[in-house]
Amino acid sequence: MESYVVIGAGQAGGRAVEAMRASGFEGRIDLIGAEPHLPYERPPLSKELLTEDAPFELMHDDAWYAEKDISVHLGAPVTSIDRSTKRVTVGESQILAYDKLLLTTGGFVRKLTIDGAGLKGVEYLRTIEESRAIGSMLAEGARIVVVGGGFIGLEIAASARKRGCQVTVLEAADRLMGRALPPEIGQAYEALHRGKGVDVRLNTAIERIEGTGSVEAVVTAAGDRIAADGVVVGIGIDPDTALAEAAGLEIANGIVVDEFCRTSDPAIYAAGDATDHPNPFAGRRLRLESWQNAQNQAIAAANNMCDVETPFSEVPWFWSDQFDVNLQMCGAPENWDRIVTRGDIAACDGLLFQMQGDAIVGAIGLGRPRDMRFIKRMMGSGKTATDEQLADESVGFRDLMR
Ligand SMILES: Cc1cc2nc3c(=O)[nH]c(=O)nc-3n(C[C@H](O)[C@H](O)[C@H](O)COP(=O)(O)OP(=O)(O)OC[C@H]3O[C@@H](n4cnc5c(N)ncnc54)[C@H](O)[C@@H]3O)c2cc1C
Repeated sequence: MESYVVIGAGQAGGRAVEAMRASGFEGRIDLIGAEPHLPYERPPLSKELLTEDAPFELMHDDAWYAEKDISVHLGAPVTSIDRSTKRVTVGESQILAYDKLLLTTGGFVRKLTIDGAGLKGVEYLRTIEESRAIGSMLAEGARIVVVGGGFIGLEIAASARKRGCQVTVLEAADRLMGRALPPEIGQAYEALHRGKGVDVRLNTAIERIEGTGSVEAVVTAAGDRIAADGVVVGIGIDPDTALAEAAGLEIANGIVVDEFCRTSDPAIYAAGDATDHPNPFAGRRLRLESWQNAQNQAIAAANNMCDVETPFSEVPWFWSDQFDVNLQMCGAPENWDRIVTRGDIAACDGLLFQMQGDAIVGAIGLGRPRDMRFIKRMMGSGKTATDEQLADESVGFRDLMR
C-alpha cells in the first residue's frame, strides 16, 4: 500500500486529503501542519469573524479525520525533505516516509522592518490567532491605522468601521487595490471607503511607528503623525517555498508545477498559494492567492497523485466583501485593448469587462454576484458577446450563455 504525505494543513492541504479518499485511495495519508488547528478556511478571518459573533469553523472535525483514517500531525512543522530516501522530518526528529508528497505550504505575510514595527499592537493577518488579536483591538472609537490598501487591508478597514473604530488607510501607491485591478475599481472603492468614514490616504509611505511598549502613532514619510491605538499591516504575502527550495525543487514565483500540479520531482506535487502554475485562460504562468485556487488546484493535485489524470485549468476567480459590496473578479489579464462597462462602477453597482479583440479576458463585478456566475461560465467556455450587449443592462447573461 502506498503512503502519501501532505505538508501544510491549510485550505489546500485539507481539500487534498479529502479528494484523495474521495478518489478511492486506501493507503496511508499523513497530513502535517505547523498551525495547532485542523484545516480551516481563511476568508472569514477578515470579515465575519471581525464583525459578528461568528463561530470559528474547521473544515472537518477530529472525528472526520479518524473516520477517513487520515493521520493528522498538528503544531508540527516539517523541517526537511530527503528526496533520495523519500522521507520528511517533522520537528526535530520524527521521520515519515512517502511514496508521493504534496506541498501545500501556502504563504506568509510580509512584515514591516521600520522602527517601531515590533511594538505591541502592530498586527498582521493570516491565522485565526491573528484575527482574534485584531478583533480585540476593534473597540468602539479605537483609532486603527491600516497599512496597505489591498484586499486584506481594505476588508479589515471595512470591518473596523463597522465596529465603530476611527480608521485610516495608508497606501503607498496612487490607488487602492492597484496590484490586481484597473483604476476605475480603485477609484470606486476609494469613494466607498471615504463615504463610510474611512480616512484614505494614497501616495503615503510610512516612516516609523512610535510608542512606548505599545503603538501610539504612525509617522508617514511626509512627516504626518497619525495617532493610533492599533496598527494592522496588509502589504501582501510571499509564497512559502523554503522547504521546496532546500530540497532542490525548481522555484520561480513560487514552487514551479506543471498543469498536473507536479513539481520538478515526479514524486512531489504542490498546490495552493505557494505554486507558480500554468493557466491556459491567462495564457501565462500565475501564482494565485485565492480560495478557489487553493481548493481546486489541491483537488486536481490529489486526483493526479491517485492516477486520475486531471489537468488544472480554470478561469481565475476571486471575491472580496467590503461593507455591503461584493466584488468578484474573473481572469487575470495583463493586457486588454479596451474596457466595456455596464451599470454604475463609480457607485459600486456594475460590471467592468476587459476586452482583447473579441474575447472577454477579464471581468469585475461590483454588487453583481449573480451576473458573475454566468460571466465566469461564459469565459470558461470561450463564449463572448458584442460590446453593446455587454454594456446593455437589458441583456441577460443567462441568454448570452445559450
Ligand atoms: C484574512 C484572509 C482573507 C481572505 N479572503 C479571501 C477571499 O475573500 N476570497 C478569496 O478568494 N481568497 C481569500 N483569501 C485567500 C485564501 O484564504 C488563500 O488563498 C488560501 O488560504 C490559500 O490556501 P493554502 O492552503 O494554499 O495556504 P495557507 O492557507 O497559507 O495554508 C498553508 C499552511 O501550511 C502550513 N505550513 C507551511 N510550511 C509548513 C511546514 N514546513 N510544515 C508544516 N506546515 C507548514 C502553514 O502553517 C499553513 O497552515 C483570504 C486570505 C486571508 C489570509
